[in-house]
Amino acid sequence: MKNCLFCKIIKKEIPSEIIYEDDKIISFKDIRPKAKIHFLIVPKEHIESVSDLEEKNKDLAGELILTAKKIAEKHNLTGYKLIFNVGRRGGQLIDHIHLHLVSRDIEELP
Ligand code: AMP
Ligand code: ZN
Repeated sequence: MKNCLFCKIIKKEIPSEIIYEDDKIISFKDIRPKAKIHFLIVPKEHIESVSDLEEKNKDLAGELILTAKKIAEKHNLTGYKLIFNVGRRGGQLIDHIHLHLVSRDIEELP
């Protein structure tokens, strides 16, 4: 998608701190982290939102979650949140589906 920020990141037209990449998914650090760990897990296919997911996308939707799990394990995270913001009123600002992985640093936990 021509004017999509995340498509530009996927095509490496805009720099990002990539932490994971395969043929279908890319993950990079959120530029304005809400916690010590804040990654975005993004399919390379341009799908706007969870509300645009179709039956044919179900493998990809599952892979986003499994990729988040793999990334969390790689970073030794024992607890984290996975968040999809859906639509403007759901807090979604970028119209390319993405899963937020957010975690406090383990040492900071009570
Ligand atoms: P959302 O509000 O769910 O659409 O989330 C969009 C996220 O993308 C926000 O947390 C932003 O901080 C993040 N973001 C915006 N621009 C960039 C960028 N160039 N690189 C990395 N993350 C970004
Ligand atoms: Zn896009």
